[in-house]
Amino acid sequence: MTMKLAVVNGVRREAAPTLVGTCPGCEAPVIAKCGAIRLHHWAHRCTVSCDPWREAETEWHRAWKNHFPLEWQEIWQRGPDGGVHIADVRTSTGAVLEFQHSPISPEERVSREAFYRPMVWVADGKRLKRDLSSFCDALSYARSAETKLRAWIIPLGLSSIVDRWAGSRYPVILDFGDVEFPLRWLPESGLLWWLRYIPKVGAVATPIYRQSFIGHCLTGVSIRGLARIELRRPSRPRPGLPRFKAHLPQKRARTPRF
Ligand SMILES: [Zn+2]
Repeated sequence: MTMKLAVVNGVRREAAPTLVGTCPGCEAPVIAKCGAIRLHHWAHRCTVSCDPWREAETEWHRAWKNHFPLEWQEIWQRGPDGGVHIADVRTSTGAVLEFQHSPISPEERVSREAFYRPMVWVADGKRLKRDLSSFCDALSYARSAETKLRAWIIPLGLSSIVDRWAGSRYPVILDFGDVEFPLRWLPESGLLWWLRYIPKVGAVATPIYRQSFIGHCLTGVSIRGLARIELRRPSRPRPGLPRFKAHLPQKRARTPRF
């Protein structure tokens, strides 16, 4: 398991050559690994379990963590059973963000959700090629969801990544990077897919703007997505507005905080 931050002379620091640190969780000595190929990181001297949930850190993890203040990153928490776990990011409201690249078993997911509540998963949608193609296929057949933001209902059995995360109690944000989605009017860059699971139905998939998700976690501003096109007539005609203007969708729709 690898970490971005270890304790050096009482302060949490990133790895640098010649530094010696201790693990903030188990207090074992950790070594600064500063090679040319992998990200600079800290590693335990022996792989005796510290936090068994940790996975090796990728550039994708590091990029996500770096959107947030250092003091929010890699937060150690001790559970009632005495085990320590390290949250990727814990925001000022206490919500945990877990950036998940590797596969995770349903059992492990349940125990992390129970430990870190409330939390949000951010899943790397680029690890397996077929994840994007099956998600796009599912999207092109999905029906619209009656939600504030433009969204679709993806039934189970159509998209492998949606199926793998089924049953999550907390939102799952899929990060496919910048790609072209089958609905041509969707932006090619800056989108994330916010999944909320509904038992026996599947997932409501809402495209949201990446920057607004990060801003939401940082300061609580609303998450922005695409406005839903309102087909029903406003209840009262608005005086002074030309008819077509009264039917324009709102510029931005808002969602409540997690
Ligand atoms: Zn440790």
